[in-house]
Amino acid sequence: MFSCTPDHDEPLTGHAGCACHRPELQALTRRLNADLSRRGFVAGLGASLAMLGLPRRAAAQPTPPAQSTLFRNFRLFDGKSANLRDGLSLLVEGNRIASLTPGNPAPPERARVIDCGGRVLMPGLIDAHWHSLFAALPISSLLNSDIGYIHLAASAESERTLMRGFTTVRDLGGPAFAFKQAIDEGLVTGPRIYPSGAMITTSGGHGDLRPLTDVPRSPGGEASLAEQTGGVAIADGADEVRLRSREQLLQGASQVKLVGGGGVSSPRSPVDVTTFSIEELRAGIETAAGWGAYATVHAYAPTTIQRAIQAGARCIEHGHLMDEATAAMLAEKDVWLSLQPFLTDDDSVPLTGPSRVAQLKVFGGTDTAYKLAIKHGIKTAFGSDMLFSAALAARQGIMLTHLTRWYSNAQILTMATSTNAELLGLSGPRNPYPGKLGVIEDEAFADLLLVDGNPLEDIHLLARPESSLVVIMKDGRIHKDTLAA
Ligand SMILES: [Zn+2]
Ligand SMILES: [Zn+2]
Repeated sequence: MFSCTPDHDEPLTGHAGCACHRPELQALTRRLNADLSRRGFVAGLGASLAMLGLPRRAAAQPTPPAQSTLFRNFRLFDGKSANLRDGLSLLVEGNRIASLTPGNPAPPERARVIDCGGRVLMPGLIDAHWHSLFAALPISSLLNSDIGYIHLAASAESERTLMRGFTTVRDLGGPAFAFKQAIDEGLVTGPRIYPSGAMITTSGGHGDLRPLTDVPRSPGGEASLAEQTGGVAIADGADEVRLRSREQLLQGASQVKLVGGGGVSSPRSPVDVTTFSIEELRAGIETAAGWGAYATVHAYAPTTIQRAIQAGARCIEHGHLMDEATAAMLAEKDVWLSLQPFLTDDDSVPLTGPSRVAQLKVFGGTDTAYKLAIKHGIKTAFGSDMLFSAALAARQGIMLTHLTRWYSNAQILTMATSTNAELLGLSGPRNPYPGKLGVIEDEAFADLLLVDGNPLEDIHLLARPESSLVVIMKDGRIHKDTLAA
């Protein structure tokens, strides 16, 4: 790639026809090849072009959004109200909702008009716990494949994610920065990404999947492969947590993910284990706060959750094993709970050994965790945390319907739109998409779904997005429109 063999013997100096021999482009080639093997081609290309002072977007511009789109004849779920509203028109200009007005105003000149046929218009869905790079590939592929392949597979999945109606995801671990950039630039189709970058964990913590041949590591020693590619960052001691947190923030993290305890898909890090010390957690939390952002802590066991709260965490990921005292603490400190409705083997890849034991504990804890969250009025976000299987990732909307065990359809739809957007707002000045998300109102981002049916009556429509979603708009651009045919 990016090499050129001269087709005649012309000396390199003064080579007029081909720019590949210019010294700066030869340097770029070397840099790109190094970056390709180290970090993945998208990041490498971006960094290398920036080094040369070349514009990043020269190669491919996103298709510009339609000048304006007028939606008519719909019933509105605005992301907040449990009641649908009728008799409105919605005008999208650029990537924002320009106006939501009663009646049937004349469309602006050159506007595209969509007659919604009385269907329900709602905000795009938000998944508060997603792994853009890890959702659809088996763990064996993730551990053994070239990072370029992993990015390409993730780009295929990101388009499917958007086609399920998820217009925004909060990425809770994985090398998502360059991937997000490619989506934002329109090179790849996919949802908005709120990236954490590498999940930060201790030696032996959840996410430390190093082969045992890489153990021991000396402090400051060479990074393992998973660390080099940006999926995980191993940090032991408060100083290393600060360093790794800063590295994610400088790359554009909207939140820092700290792994406070063991997990399910990490056989060497049992789910009951608490890993980071309170000082280590504080180091990451304070670093994120210094950037105006926040840290969220992966924690299942009560002791892990409680330690994270004591350290000042603003959000807990998972929490399935929490008890009453822990729930009370979450409520008292006004900490968010980003909980996933894992119920049965249908919701996860098959696991064995200690991972299977952990998985069954988590399945068993889900019902209690939701009941405690409701009882104590904990601010709760919806996330699916689908991992390691394209077939599972396809069940993202089905995961949402699992919530009917504890919530009304209106509460579920509100959680997956405006409530999740409120959580995204914790990123403060580090919010990559400053503006209103998860709602349909003036000036909000134009992330819209047109549903063939009423999801307030039948939430399972969102489990069948291929037939139920007739229009999908993200950032003012239409990605699906079966009405146009
Ligand atoms: Zn986690
Ligand atoms: Zn996760």
